[in-house]
Amino acid sequence: MKNTLNAFSLTRQLLNFNTVNPPELEHECALSLGKILEEGGFKTDYYEFAKGRTSLIAKIEGKDNKPPLCFTGHIDTVPLGAVSWKKDPFKGETEGDKLYGRGSSDMKSGVAAMVIAALRLARERDNKAGITLVITAGEETGCKGAKYMAKQGTVLGEAGAVIIGEPTSNYPLIGHKGVLWIEALIRGITAHGSMPDQGVNAINKTAIVIDKLANYKFDTNPHPVLGLPTLNIGTISGGININSVPDKVLLEIDIRTIPGQNINNTIENLKTCLGIEVEISTIQKAEGIATNPDDKWTQQVFGIMEKYLDEKIIPKGITYFTDGSVLKPAYENPPTLILGPGEPSMAHKTDEYCYISKIETITEAYTDIAFNWCK
Ligand SMILES: [Zn+2]
Repeated sequence: MKNTLNAFSLTRQLLNFNTVNPPELEHECALSLGKILEEGGFKTDYYEFAKGRTSLIAKIEGKDNKPPLCFTGHIDTVPLGAVSWKKDPFKGETEGDKLYGRGSSDMKSGVAAMVIAALRLARERDNKAGITLVITAGEETGCKGAKYMAKQGTVLGEAGAVIIGEPTSNYPLIGHKGVLWIEALIRGITAHGSMPDQGVNAINKTAIVIDKLANYKFDTNPHPVLGLPTLNIGTISGGININSVPDKVLLEIDIRTIPGQNINNTIENLKTCLGIEVEISTIQKAEGIATNPDDKWTQQVFGIMEKYLDEKIIPKGITYFTDGSVLKPAYENPPTLILGPGEPSMAHKTDEYCYISKIETITEAYTDIAFNWCK
């Protein structure tokens, strides 16, 4: 069994665990990975931000003082969605080069490949640096596992560089945007719908707020790779019934920030723009991250990936956020790249799949990256 374990077969094993978040638990999946890593010589520790919501840290040390290379990925997945799947989401069915299943792209294939690469390195003697694997729970609902571990003091250890195995189709990315989700509450005064002059119409007030948001300009220079922040009004709800003056409207606003943008300033600027009558509260925030493309290790990884992809790598980023928002600052900002075998276009989709050939490629590339850092 151990001899036949490769990144493809391990991805299929991970797909067999239903880790749909919510409501399922990551415990069994984390335990099975921990067992494989322990057999390979890793020291493992488990952390639960809630019962059964298990994250795993696995470490193997090197003989020098050089800090370890960190590979990180999450084992929870998003729900299956309302449309029924043609393939079983938990069986690891294949068709040609495609491996289907919830989490195949986002991102059990990435986790499997990093585990196999780490096990290969662990079989070597006299490694200068070690490897740390940070396998998280609860990423899809706000990086809960990563946040919990970052709060536990020193459990993460140190890291000299970080690879986040989120789906990038094997293209190394230097960063991603952050997120700021806010609620805007606009109040009015209710009255009978036949006597609107007796009340204050919250929907009419909201029309002005929406206009300001639609034309909102962020007070920040564009990031050279990630561009400008964006703002999207995701939901609007308000009103009581047709014959009352509405006294309340709630907007949910999705802002994608860029690295270096001061989130507190952004909130204050928005408050100033919308006026004191609009009550703003924060639902979720996570920092954007970026690594200097000229960083030495980053250039080495670009070189390795150019060999595998047979194309020149140019610095690019993504708009969605990852556990990197938590882990990069927790590790005191080492160079951090997002690089994984999944298809970004398949994340969260019905009949999610990833390409088996890309799992095999990234396993070799992760191995090269690990040997390059640790030997
Ligand atoms: Zn993901």
